[in-house]
Amino acid sequence: MLVFEEVNRKGDYARSGILHTRVGDVLTPTFMPDGTRGAVKSVSPELVYSTGVQIVLANTYHLHMMPGEDIVSKLGGLHEFTRFSGPILTDSGGFQVFSLKSLRKITEEGVEFKHPITGEIRLITPEKSIQIQLALGSDLTVAFDHLTGLSEKDRGTTKEAFDRTHRWLERCIVEFRRLTSGMSVTERPLLFGVVQGGLDHELRQKSLEIIQNSDVDGTAIGGLSVGETRNEMHDILDFLAPLYNPERPRFLLGVGDPVDVRKAIECGIDMMDCVMPTRNARHATVWSGPDSKRLHLTNAKYLDDDTVIDEVCDCYSCTKGFSKGFLRHQFKVGEPLAGTLASVHNLRHLVRICEEYRTN
Ligand SMILES: [Zn+2]
Repeated sequence: MLVFEEVNRKGDYARSGILHTRVGDVLTPTFMPDGTRGAVKSVSPELVYSTGVQIVLANTYHLHMMPGEDIVSKLGGLHEFTRFSGPILTDSGGFQVFSLKSLRKITEEGVEFKHPITGEIRLITPEKSIQIQLALGSDLTVAFDHLTGLSEKDRGTTKEAFDRTHRWLERCIVEFRRLTSGMSVTERPLLFGVVQGGLDHELRQKSLEIIQNSDVDGTAIGGLSVGETRNEMHDILDFLAPLYNPERPRFLLGVGDPVDVRKAIECGIDMMDCVMPTRNARHATVWSGPDSKRLHLTNAKYLDDDTVIDEVCDCYSCTKGFSKGFLRHQFKVGEPLAGTLASVHNLRHLVRICEEYRTN
């Protein structure tokens, strides 16, 4: 099955395209909200899709811990369980290697975690990550990687993590092929390999070459948006832009600020995910206007403001006429509807940016 078709180019590297998955086509560039535990927080699938979102992301680590892939599988798999009918991407759990305090230790075999509730020690290996993702019923899977931060303290481990990520990739590919060998090309989920290498150009280029020469369907760019400056992130995106294989989709992990989404698309990225639009929205922060200005809806100046968040936005919240004064009031009294309406708006804001690059 052809995985990706490039449709049009805009500028040097921005492109629009069609990503083919086993549950339908996706127009790119595309933004994917994080349904970390199987739900996009406070937003129903119907409202998520009303924003133009085509893919949602679910988190392998969290669903493995609770309720467990066996339960999700018994309840019909991710689509039946979450009621998202479109493509679902699962991350590998690699990000939690970096972010969670429940981490015990990293060895060549895999990563030991302490269960946040039971305290039980669990080992996630590259093979286990793929097994969990396939048991969940993922349509787009990601190879297990070793991510490090980018502070001075972490830089010494970048090369070690870089080498381990590529050894783990080979193990992921073997396990993925083993578990999907009985599937037809139209039934098979996709596998993305993850490019690491921190802020080091040489390591990034080498890692990209390794991923692009591997038997995977897509290229994921990991290890960004983990504490580096915006300029440092953009420098890596600029550096990688001319080096991508045109036939494969490119997924930038964990990026969702409008400035970074535009930059990523202009550097040839096709897919992005982040908790930012919905997390910010639940904290009353929304983007508005062509320059994505941040508005803080709890600000006193919105007390009697009868205008919607963005007059030109065609999201549910703006077209239904929910005023900033109404939203401010609901945030102030702790009404969850406010977070829902703001989340719908922020998702639509990012999808509209993606759509600008699809049309011409
Ligand atoms: Zn809106």
